[in-house]
Amino acid sequence: MTAPIVAAHGIHKHFGQVHVLKGVDLDVAERELVFVIGPSGSGKSTLLRCLNRLEEPSSGSITVAGIDMLSPKTDINHARQHIGMVFQSFNLYPHMTALGNVMLALRKVAGKSRAEAETIARAALERVGLAERAHHRPAELSGGQQQRVAIARAIALEPRVMLFDEPTSALDPELVGSVLAVMRSLRESGMTMIVVSHEMGFARAAADRVVFMDHGLIVEQGPPAQIFENPAHERTRAFIGQIR
Ligand code: ADP
Ligand code: MG
Repeated sequence: MTAPIVAAHGIHKHFGQVHVLKGVDLDVAERELVFVIGPSGSGKSTLLRCLNRLEEPSSGSITVAGIDMLSPKTDINHARQHIGMVFQSFNLYPHMTALGNVMLALRKVAGKSRAEAETIARAALERVGLAERAHHRPAELSGGQQQRVAIARAIALEPRVMLFDEPTSALDPELVGSVLAVMRSLRESGMTMIVVSHEMGFARAAADRVVFMDHGLIVEQGPPAQIFENPAHERTRAFIGQIR
């Protein structure tokens, strides 16, 4: 196997007295889609947030695209350009258009000129199927469209890895499909992705590997068919049974 693009080893995270991550090891290969499942509170969001250092792990090592994410010498804002993140809440600026939201990251984070940022932002909106909505504000867009703007904003920076934390959980059921379709096309373009979600149909169709977390540890992992049809651990079986 070539060097993993994400290598997280021995990750522990404490919030005060609470031991939330208890030694997580996760290697992700380039172009791999890793799907993370587990009960509420098991540490899925904390793990994703440690990967781009939105949270500081208490101990362990993390490299992303060859960058040591925990080294004090690393320029974390620069390193984060390689790691796109999409949250359950879309976090768009309400007073700016879709185009403005995507351009802002390109101008502030990547230092692009206005003209260059606009060209890249329009192409990113096109990729998520929203070229015609470029001049709409978030309030004029459906939840699914807003989430696709958030995805466009992330991919416009050409990240090496995309992290998704329950990207469809806040959406009305009829809007989920459009977001999953965009994620599917990203995956087909070869993007490396780590996805926390309850969308098991998407996992079966698109995931290379499913990781089951419980109580701050990876309990079990494997191909979707194995984890969903034939889990080895009782806790995995119980969880799969609940969400089916
Ligand atoms: P999941 O995403 O799997 O639902 P989280 O990573 O959000 O789990 O949370 C794991 C545990 O860490 C929970 O018990 C949660 O209450 C706790 N936790 C998360 N963030 C914080 C924080 N900023 N301060 C204190 N506790 C936190
Ligand atoms: Mg979470």
